[in-house]
Amino acid sequence: MTGQINAFEMAQRQFDGVAKLLNLDPQIAEVLRWPMREYSFRIPVRMDDGSLRVFQGYRVQHNDARGPNKGGIRFHPSETFDTVRALATWMTWKCAVADIPLGGGKGGVVVDPSTLSTTEKERLCRGWVQVMWKNIGPRLDVPAPDVGTTAQMMGWMMDEYSKLVGEYTPGVFTGKPLGGGGSEGRTEATGFGVIYTVREAMKFLNIDPKNSVAAIEGFGNVAQYAAIGFTEMLGGKVACVSCWDRNDKTSYTYSHKDGVNPRFLLTITDQYGTIDKKKALDAGYILEEGDKWIEKEANVLIPAAIEGHVNADTVKKISKSVKIVAEGANGPCTPEADEYFKANGIFNIPDFLCNAGGVTTSYFESVQNDMNFYWTKEEVLQKLDTKMTQAFQAVLDMSLKEKVYMRDAAYMVAIDRVVKAMQLRGWV
Ligand code: GLU
Repeated sequence: MTGQINAFEMAQRQFDGVAKLLNLDPQIAEVLRWPMREYSFRIPVRMDDGSLRVFQGYRVQHNDARGPNKGGIRFHPSETFDTVRALATWMTWKCAVADIPLGGGKGGVVVDPSTLSTTEKERLCRGWVQVMWKNIGPRLDVPAPDVGTTAQMMGWMMDEYSKLVGEYTPGVFTGKPLGGGGSEGRTEATGFGVIYTVREAMKFLNIDPKNSVAAIEGFGNVAQYAAIGFTEMLGGKVACVSCWDRNDKTSYTYSHKDGVNPRFLLTITDQYGTIDKKKALDAGYILEEGDKWIEKEANVLIPAAIEGHVNADTVKKISKSVKIVAEGANGPCTPEADEYFKANGIFNIPDFLCNAGGVTTSYFESVQNDMNFYWTKEEVLQKLDTKMTQAFQAVLDMSLKEKVYMRDAAYMVAIDRVVKAMQLRGWV
């Protein structure tokens, strides 16, 4: 967890607030406040120099009433059990709001993957599966990529699982590489999904996308495709992106007088989302400190990096012209930031609605794995657009009907669906 904000306390606080609004039976609420199963384990890995290093790993399965647990595995140096708990909880709500038949899970390893060689990464990925394989599976728990993990890593993990169970089992991990059981459109899915919800919010608020400007935090997978979608699908301008520079161990904001060109930036960005500073400067980009993105003149803010960066301190710096905050990351805005949005009439597209495109396409991937028949990219993205638009509409309708803020409305839609599944199964 970054900073002082405990993500799990935040997830529980958000849930408690809505449980009250929904008049949820306190005994049922108690079931949902906590993950159903949690794993904390050590993974010994032989390093390239012959030494043995032990890594801390986690997997949390929050709730599987609607279907197998689903959610990514993060490789992050400041990963904690509580961060993974929070993220697993949010996955339950995310799958429910997207109306896909899956529950919530999340995993993690305390590691900075950029410090490992390719072979060390492969051994760590295989080691994670060697510990967890009995507790995951296509009908049990299906992990996927997240911060610090890639399609290649999912390929290794799927391979290790298949070897251990003795048969090819592509549906155990999603976000796999194309040609290795992956789905067309999975790479673009989360970022494009963010933009489908922004498009719907703009329709509702009567905002012209072509005259819109976005300030984006991050330049990892979600931010990259959100930036591409914002310029190419909506015709808007991206004022800036930011990125963690792993050489300088600090983050920078990159802007350009004509707006940033995400396709160009992609060509000079490494697999961990670090932009080549020199090449960017040569191309006329302006470099500022990492937290400057939040102050840029824009009407759409897309935090697509890590939890808690839009908080009591930073939220006051956002430009007066901001009308929409679209949460590409998981948990980027704290409850204090929410209060500021409410007081200033800023429309929020909450994380587990806004970034549900990734897991929705993961669901499509597992469906294709089961059928052993694969769709085209156009088919996948069309289905994704339909799902995201329906999810946005369901939350907006709830928000208007109950006169509640979008985050509360998303929780109401999600909790209602999960509780219904638990009741139908006779759990509560
Ligand atoms: N890690 C992504 C998320 O937080 C995707 C999860 C998945 O595809 O299962 O939504």
